[in-house]
Amino acid sequence: MKILAIESTAHTIGVAIIESKAKSATAVSKANTKVLSNEIARYPAKLEGFIPRKLADHHAKEYPRVLRAALSKAKVALADIDYFSYSQGPGIGHCLRVGFVGARSLSLLNGKPLIPVNHTVAHVEVGKWACGCADPLVVYVSGGNTQILAKHVERGANYYHVFGETLDVGIGNFLDVMGRELALSPPNAIGFLALAEKGKEFLQLPYTVKGNNLAFSGLQSAALRLKGKHPSADICFSASEVAFSTLVEATERVLCHTGNKEMLIVGGVAQAKRLQQMYSLMAADHGVRFSVVPPVYAGDQAAMIGITAVKHALSKDIRRDVSPNQSMRIDSHAIRW
Ligand code: MG
Repeated sequence: MKILAIESTAHTIGVAIIESKAKSATAVSKANTKVLSNEIARYPAKLEGFIPRKLADHHAKEYPRVLRAALSKAKVALADIDYFSYSQGPGIGHCLRVGFVGARSLSLLNGKPLIPVNHTVAHVEVGKWACGCADPLVVYVSGGNTQILAKHVERGANYYHVFGETLDVGIGNFLDVMGRELALSPPNAIGFLALAEKGKEFLQLPYTVKGNNLAFSGLQSAALRLKGKHPSADICFSASEVAFSTLVEATERVLCHTGNKEMLIVGGVAQAKRLQQMYSLMAADHGVRFSVVPPVYAGDQAAMIGITAVKHALSKDIRRDVSPNQSMRIDSHAIRW
């Protein structure tokens, strides 16, 4: 089967074409499911942050070009597509609508089904596909989300259960705000993490773990109060050490409870080298296989939506309610694989 997938939850508009010869959803692997193309256009980081209307305008403008590039790179015509899919949520409402209108129009015009995909499930599935994991404890760290997840049977069905999560902002949002407030270059998590590597002095900052849950807004306020009083590199270094340590502590608590033998980190922040280092030490302590999603599949892109849509199609699990859902949670529906 061939699937065309669209991603548009936040700063990225993406279109991917996936081809799969898998016989069942549980058999989907890199050997039988290929990414033929995975094109993206990303809204640039600015000091004003992300203004939803401007993001949506960017996506609407870039969508035709990204769509044409994905089709031509994959050497596939719209008539060859068996299913259309899109990222249903969670995300920014304005942005979600662009992907929804694009995918729904293609589905109606070509007479092929539309598969709505949960964006968080897609981050987990692309990590499992890329790293060959069967049943990992997953840490999803991105701009809007920070969750510790594992497959769990509830009322006779499989769910990705949220064992721990942020109680306020996502860790990537925290890193982005720090990058903007300190006017780093680029003014986001990338600028923040680069400068953190140059820090020398550790500054005391609040450390918040509540059970298995996390919070970053107090850390953010405290770190920003140090602005101008200490070198920005030391502020970034200290804030990242504290934020990543809280995340690893909460994850270790969950791991001791669930007993998973594999651990996987996914989402844009999974690219942070210091976080990878802390997690690999913790995983080694517990004799757990540790994997990191490859950079190309860490941030938002549509290949992850297509790979998840393959699993939906093979398990005949296509939700009727296809409308965008801004606050969709990963545990709002069962997983049929
Ligand atoms: Mg994401």
